[in-house]
Amino acid sequence: MADLSDLYQEVILDHNRRPRNFRAMDHPSRTQEGFNPLCGDRLTLYVGLDGERIDEIAFQGSGCAISKASASLMTEALKGKTVDEARALFDRFHAMITSSPENPAPDLGKLSVLAGVREYPTRIKCASLAWHTMKAAVASDSTDPVSTE
Ligand code: ZN
Repeated sequence: MADLSDLYQEVILDHNRRPRNFRAMDHPSRTQEGFNPLCGDRLTLYVGLDGERIDEIAFQGSGCAISKASASLMTEALKGKTVDEARALFDRFHAMITSSPENPAPDLGKLSVLAGVREYPTRIKCASLAWHTMKAAVASDSTDPVSTE
């Protein structure tokens, strides 16, 4: 049986190599840029809203494998969710990646592959960049670029 952490790494590498929803969007409802100066990760997030629902979500950018995989997994997780559900998932995701490595990680389904960053404090910002950017994107009127610093 494959080691679980190897399996997780496979998923991250796959999403890094073939990021899902990696494209620009025509006429997005919201466009938001995010930057993690600690690692150099940059992304632009596009959100298409249908009322309170995230109808479409896509991103572009460059960065490390963790930041790209996290953004890719996030777009998959949030498509079709309401803005409130997306915010709630942000909180749960953030709690997961900042929880103590000594405790079992909260189960967030596919997003759990990123729980391993708990053990690498500098990588937490790589994993959370897309999520902070999303949170700013769905917040009503701010378009200032997001920085993790
Ligand atoms: Zn990074």
